[in-house]
Amino acid sequence: MIPFNRPILPERASELMTEAFRSGKVSGDGAFSRRCEAFLKERYGASRCLMTTSCTDALELAAILSGVGPGDEVILPSFTFVSTANAFALRGAKLVFADSLPDQPNLDPAQVEALLSPRTKVIVPVHYAGVAVDMDPIMSLAARQGAFVVEDAAQAIEATYKGRQLGLIGDLGAFSFHETKNIHCGEGGLIALRDPAFVSRAEVIREKGTNRSAFFRGEVDKYGWVDIGSSFLPSDILSAILWAQIEHLEAICQHRMALWHCYREALDPLERSGWAHLPVVPDYAGHNAHAFYLILPDESTRAHLIAHLKAREIMAVFHYQSLHRSPYFQDKHDGRSLPNSDRYSDCLLRLPLFHDLTEAEQGRVVDGVLDFFRK
Ligand SMILES: *Cc1c(COP(=O)(O)O)cnc(C)c1O
Repeated sequence: MIPFNRPILPERASELMTEAFRSGKVSGDGAFSRRCEAFLKERYGASRCLMTTSCTDALELAAILSGVGPGDEVILPSFTFVSTANAFALRGAKLVFADSLPDQPNLDPAQVEALLSPRTKVIVPVHYAGVAVDMDPIMSLAARQGAFVVEDAAQAIEATYKGRQLGLIGDLGAFSFHETKNIHCGEGGLIALRDPAFVSRAEVIREKGTNRSAFFRGEVDKYGWVDIGSSFLPSDILSAILWAQIEHLEAICQHRMALWHCYREALDPLERSGWAHLPVVPDYAGHNAHAFYLILPDESTRAHLIAHLKAREIMAVFHYQSLHRSPYFQDKHDGRSLPNSDRYSDCLLRLPLFHDLTEAEQGRVVDGVLDFFRK
């Protein structure tokens, strides 16, 4: 069976995990966490990067930092992972779902503009498949309204908008190191702070609402409860696993990009004959080959293609189900239809794409897909 994903497991990860263990400091904020944070801070030009236990937690931390609460509105895509929405639902904010673009799953800035209100407190662009949302219009709409921009950059490590790293264009950026992402530590995440004004409060919220970080820097003589917070620090053993990949970040990304382009070229006939659409990457987006997907004409074609591939021992998977139609939210939604979001829910199919995908395996996936359409 060719799985949808096989997480990258560098040999060196076990060596570094042992090193983390032997250091005698296996909780959060150990040497490897510091190394990961410092590397990404430098590379992406952040004021501070903080490792978290997941992107879900990074989004929750961002939601607390944004100060959003009951009576405030948050504009976000409906075609996204539940964590994007949960982070703000947990603060009691009103979720206002926007539709995706007609030609790709990212948020449509025109939709955001139409939904903007005096109550809009946060806009949440989600960079689907590591392809940038068109950030300039999003940023000017946010500025017009005095709203925060929290980027769900879960899939966007090493991906850019007009040459700028995603997650560092808005006020706050949340990244994921879940095993399905380009680099991972099983479960893990990171919050990137562009603006230094957020740094000290972010440290406090991440440390159970205490000023423990300031205490360890010798800035206060004891630490105590100073704000609300939670425990968002990953063990240093997880950061050691991540560091084993950050050491080879560029090579890992280049390899993934080569696999992505193989799919793009081999499956081009589908686009040309109108059988399926391939991912659209606008000129402003420097993507990171996070995902390769097909947009099929309808749900039943997708179901047949999944079955066809499964019979050939290939796992291809669909993705998000529109959140405005979810069991939890459908009766809270304002009733607007979001046809593009629904179309991606019904018609988008992701193909296996992971670091260790062999040429032979990728060849089998391509043949399986082309074969289906030839019939
Ligand atoms: C993976 C993902 C998340 C959640 O990341 P975790 O690290 O698993 O919490 C959130 N948003 C998007 C868009 C994702 O792809």
